[in-house]
Amino acid sequence: MNKAYLMANFHDWVCDPRLELAALRQFIQDPSLIGSAYQGRFLVWESSGSHGAPGVFVQDAAAMAVYDALEATRRRVPNLPLHLLDPWGVLDRIAFVGATNGHFASTVSVERLRRLNPFLSRALQGISFLQPLPALARELVSFNPRVITTYPSVAIMLAEEKMRGKLDINPREIWTGGETLTDAMRTAISQAFNAEVINSYGASEFMSLAFECAHQRLHLNSDWAILEPVDEMNRPVPIGQVGSTTLLTNLANHVQPIIRYDLGDRVSIASMPCECGSVLPVIEVQGRSGDLLHLGDRHGQAAVSALALSTVVESIEELVDFQLIQTAPNELELNTELGGPMVDEALRRAKSALDHYLTSQNLGRTQVSCNAARPSVRGRNGKTHRVIGIPNHDLLQWLA
Ligand SMILES: [Zn+2]
Repeated sequence: MNKAYLMANFHDWVCDPRLELAALRQFIQDPSLIGSAYQGRFLVWESSGSHGAPGVFVQDAAAMAVYDALEATRRRVPNLPLHLLDPWGVLDRIAFVGATNGHFASTVSVERLRRLNPFLSRALQGISFLQPLPALARELVSFNPRVITTYPSVAIMLAEEKMRGKLDINPREIWTGGETLTDAMRTAISQAFNAEVINSYGASEFMSLAFECAHQRLHLNSDWAILEPVDEMNRPVPIGQVGSTTLLTNLANHVQPIIRYDLGDRVSIASMPCECGSVLPVIEVQGRSGDLLHLGDRHGQAAVSALALSTVVESIEELVDFQLIQTAPNELELNTELGGPMVDEALRRAKSALDHYLTSQNLGRTQVSCNAARPSVRGRNGKTHRVIGIPNHDLLQWLA
């Protein structure tokens, strides 16, 4: 199954006749209803639709109980004594920095907790990153969070502000999720704040697929979610190998069954157990299958894997965060939100590595331009993608 097919057959998909797509869409149009219960019993969120049609996802109380239990028992807590004194975290100040104006899974979860628990409403604050950076920094300083939870790309942006002396906060933990966190990003964030970075992996289709252990490995919540890495023909790949996509089965949600559903992420399941002793399998997430980039001109085109391109740029470790955008059939833009002489030098080296790779793929005519201090292109939910190509049908029109 995949999202486009299921959304087109929504009425046949959901198992409760009270759930109608038109009414649900109307509900998620209203920001004042974020985190409130639809018809008094369902929690609703939407996916951004950055890959195809936006999805609408409905959970009942039983599904939310599973997600809450996983969050409460499986998320790693570095400071255990503090946690035992305050198991519900009411003394913590947790800042969620994200797209606070939409019914996205993370925003809905935060607003729901605030509605359920008056203590949490003071301890847990949603802060919009769609505002200018100085205003965002002011809001963070005045809240002074002990924990920040956000996307890796936003954490990098905040880390740079901290390094510049423009963000006077000292969080002890940074929780990341929603995008790929590379080792270089983890190191940069951790050093800037002198804080622990704790990663997790989730989706609109299953809130908390995997949490990280003390060995910085992601453990799949395999008692409630089944992940099957498969090849292009949906055949299982051998254990330890990365498939071209991954099928998800959600064992918690009975109102909107998600069974062998194409998640679009490339995941591998490790064959060896983790040294931490957890019996939950270790997974590695390589992000979106990222589709292919079709590069070329009227004389010829070739498809290049988005993952290969981002791996080439990631080899320049000093370029901690970047975005590679196809702006024309044979033009790529390499942008980073970071600035300064070291970044300029890193961009030069990344361009040279990209030129070399493209030449080796017989795509030497592709031009790469670089920009420092350039804000990332973000989806409606604020997520970034490291590589953005021009869709193939648009490209064909372009070349026609
Ligand atoms: Zn482990």
